[in-house]
Amino acid sequence: SNFAEIDLAEGLNLNIQRCKYVRPTPVQRHAIPISLAGRDLMACAQTGSGKTAAFCFPIISGIMTGEAPQRPSRGARAVCPLALILSPTRELSMQIHEEARKFSYQTGVKVVVAYGGAPINQQLRELERGVDILVATPGRLVDLLERARVSLQMIRYLALDEADRMLDMGFEPQIRKIVEQMDMPPPGARQTMLFSATFPKEIQRLASDFLSNYVFLAV
Ligand code: AMP
Repeated sequence: SNFAEIDLAEGLNLNIQRCKYVRPTPVQRHAIPISLAGRDLMACAQTGSGKTAAFCFPIISGIMTGEAPQRPSRGARAVCPLALILSPTRELSMQIHEEARKFSYQTGVKVVVAYGGAPINQQLRELERGVDILVATPGRLVDLLERARVSLQMIRYLALDEADRMLDMGFEPQIRKIVEQMDMPPPGARQTMLFSATFPKEIQRLASDFLSNYVFLAV
């Protein structure tokens, strides 16, 4: 099979070709259609499996083809991304940001990254120019939420990458605080994807707390 058989937005397909991706990897072949169908997903995925595209493609395609969001009026201090990708480290966040930007080239979908261990001011300026997809580490995002510079009230897509590593690093309180802020009324309004290399009890608990009626994918 190849990517042309998956029903992704046209501009995204062009970027996939530009990236020279021809055939989806196993995790992509299974995860992308599940997400496009609107289901929550918990996926077993190692580094190198192509998981970044597996969660980026449905998010970008969904934003491109979805209803235009009713964002709060300009002048509001907090920016309202439509999608959030949480990752454990600055390095991984930078990588995801770089890939997501290639995939969203000339689509109008804006991707911004925010991680700790770097000055916050430049990240704030980037955010103020507008953001559809925010890639962030949990600690820095909590900081932005506490400063009321980011609002999660419009989040439609949440991806947790390397969830087991985030828990190993002690980010569970921050993650719970973040997810608490995006519980929108109609149940299922938010679509959630959880990627993890391992599935200990703590991850299963996170999945049952954050996902609804999810598909479990092990490839
Ligand atoms: P990841 O597991 O997301 O870190 O991806 C591992 C590497 O595989 C990255 O360099 C990707 O750019 C590349 N990659 C991901 N999906 C594909 C694909 N379908 N075809 C070719 N390369 C890919």
